[in-house]
Amino acid sequence: MFELLKTDPHSRARLGRLTTPRGVIDTPVFMPVGTQGSVKALDPRELLEMGTQIILGNTYHLHIRPGLDIINAAGGLHKFINWPHPILTDSGGFQVFSLAKIRKIKPHGVEFRSHLDGSLLFLGPKEAMEIQRALGSDIAMVFDDCPPHTSAPREMRAAVERTIRWAGECREQPRAAGQKVFGIVQGGSDPALREECAKQLVALDFDGYAIGGVSVGEPEPEMMKAVEFTEPFLPAGKARYAMGLGTPAQLVELVARGVDMFDCVLPTRVARNGTAFTTRGTVSIKAGFNKSDFRPIEEGCECFACRHFTRAYLRHLLNVGEILGLRMVSVHNSHMFLKVMADIRAALAAGTFAEFRREFVANYIPSRKILLAREESR
Ligand SMILES: [Zn+2]
Repeated sequence: MFELLKTDPHSRARLGRLTTPRGVIDTPVFMPVGTQGSVKALDPRELLEMGTQIILGNTYHLHIRPGLDIINAAGGLHKFINWPHPILTDSGGFQVFSLAKIRKIKPHGVEFRSHLDGSLLFLGPKEAMEIQRALGSDIAMVFDDCPPHTSAPREMRAAVERTIRWAGECREQPRAAGQKVFGIVQGGSDPALREECAKQLVALDFDGYAIGGVSVGEPEPEMMKAVEFTEPFLPAGKARYAMGLGTPAQLVELVARGVDMFDCVLPTRVARNGTAFTTRGTVSIKAGFNKSDFRPIEEGCECFACRHFTRAYLRHLLNVGEILGLRMVSVHNSHMFLKVMADIRAALAAGTFAEFRREFVANYIPSRKILLAREESR
C-alpha cells in the first residue's frame, strides 16, 4: 500500500506513494478536513483544482447526522458527498473523548451523550469499524482512547492499554472492500508509553500508523516530542500520519521528523475569522492596513482568490459579511497548505529539502492566536 520512494539524508523526511482503492496519493500529503461531509465552504471542483488528493470524514459526526441510513441509501459516503477520490475517516475516538459527555468507559467502548441533543449513544471498536465500513472510506482509523495531555500518568497508562486492546478488536472487524486500517499510537509525552504503544500496534500489523494524542492543547515542544518518541518505532515501509496538525511551519518540521500525512482544520477555520496563511505567517485580511491594498493575499500565489481578487476587496466582503469573502480566504488557505506539501515533495525529489526547510521556517512567523485556534474542538 505504501511505497517509500526516497529518504532525505539530513532529516527523517520521506517521499512516498500511498495506493488506495480510489487513487494514488503522493506523500507527504495534506488532507483537507470534511468533518460533516464537506470541506467547509469549498466544493469538490475547487478541492481538485488546488491539488487535493484525499479528504477526511468523521465517524462521530456523520453517525449522529445525517446517520448511516441516509448515507447507506445514497450508496456510501463518496457518492453522498460526490467525491469519488480517496477519503480517510477518523474513528470518532477523539470526538467522543473531547466533545461528548462521557457517561461510562466500558471494556468494549464508551457510553456517551451526543453533544447535540444529549441522546445516549455507544461507540467502541466494533461500532466504529462498522460505521466506517458502511461509509466505505478508503482508510479507516481504529477507535482509540485519546486522553487530555494533562492526564495523570496512571490515566495515560490506562488510556494506552485501552487503545492497544481496542486496536486489536478493530483489527478483527470486517472491512469495506479494499479498505485500509491505520492504528493510532497514544501515550502523551511519555517516551516509554509511546514506545510500548507503538510496538504493540506494530505487532498487530496495521496498514499504516497514526500518532494521536497530539493537537490536544499541548505546547508545541511537547507535540514535537510526542512525534519524536513515536516515529523510531514505526516501520519505514508504512505511512505515518500525525493527527490534527498543524501550522505550515509545523508541517515542515513534522515532515523532517518522518511524518507522511496530515490533516488540520486551521486553513478553513481561521478563514472564517478573515485570517489568511502566507509563507511569512498569518495576516488578518480584515485589518485596516488592507483597506486600500490592491495586491492579492500573497504575491505569486496561484490560487483562484489571489488570481482574481485584491486584499481590499476581500476585506470589504468580510466586513459586510458577504459569504464570498470567507469562501475566497478558505480557497487561499487550503491552497496554501496543499502548495507547501507540493513544494516539500518537489524539494525531497530534488534533494533540496534541507535548504527548503531552513528557508521556510526562517520566513514563517507563527502567531499565538493561530496556535490557540488549533486547540478548539475539531
Ligand atoms: Zn492565494
